[in-house]
Amino acid sequence: NLLAQRNRGYFEAKGITALNLVSSPGSGKTTLLERTIRSLKGKNINVIEGDQQTSLDADRIQATGVPVLQINTGNGCHLDAGMINKAVKALDPGQNSLMLIENVGNLVCPALFDLGEAFRVVIMSVTEGEDKPLKYPNMFQSAHLCLINKTDLLPHVDFDLENFKNYAARVNPHLLFISLSAKTGAGFEEWLGWLDQSSHSHN
Ligand code: MG
Ligand code: ZN
Repeated sequence: NLLAQRNRGYFEAKGITALNLVSSPGSGKTTLLERTIRSLKGKNINVIEGDQQTSLDADRIQATGVPVLQINTGNGCHLDAGMINKAVKALDPGQNSLMLIENVGNLVCPALFDLGEAFRVVIMSVTEGEDKPLKYPNMFQSAHLCLINKTDLLPHVDFDLENFKNYAARVNPHLLFISLSAKTGAGFEEWLGWLDQSSHSHN
């Protein structure tokens, strides 16, 4: 927590908005990042990727043209503030930039580790089932915003958006929701608007 506070102080001093993106594996975090970065062309963005193994996600982000650093946690199942501290030193992000941190796909322990981020964003895809906030409450309690992804699949799955929001609101009444599809781009205006607003309110 001390290291997380140090990271937070560093981000605030440089006017950097850091987001910690958390979700289960396969919710579409990397696809979301790819579309987000391409939509924000020209903005100063750095990305930290967390996975147990491989640099597959960092390779995808690299192709968008922004600086990226892959952290492999090996047997570890989450990122921690020490890893972020080292990664940030290596990336050396500019003033007033955006730092996007894709955490290890895991709905459990990433909720328990503060990285020093300004906002925590939980991504939930409609293929995962609407009861997840009740089963994994820590993740939804500790998030500021919930992105409901893969809405293009809604006609094909039994996922009731209103039920999901009610369950999530039960564990976190302050949670905000944006429904979107990283594949089609539906809902992205609202998400990019939130990003813009939170960068400004934060700085
Ligand atoms: Mg990923
Ligand atoms: Zn863990």
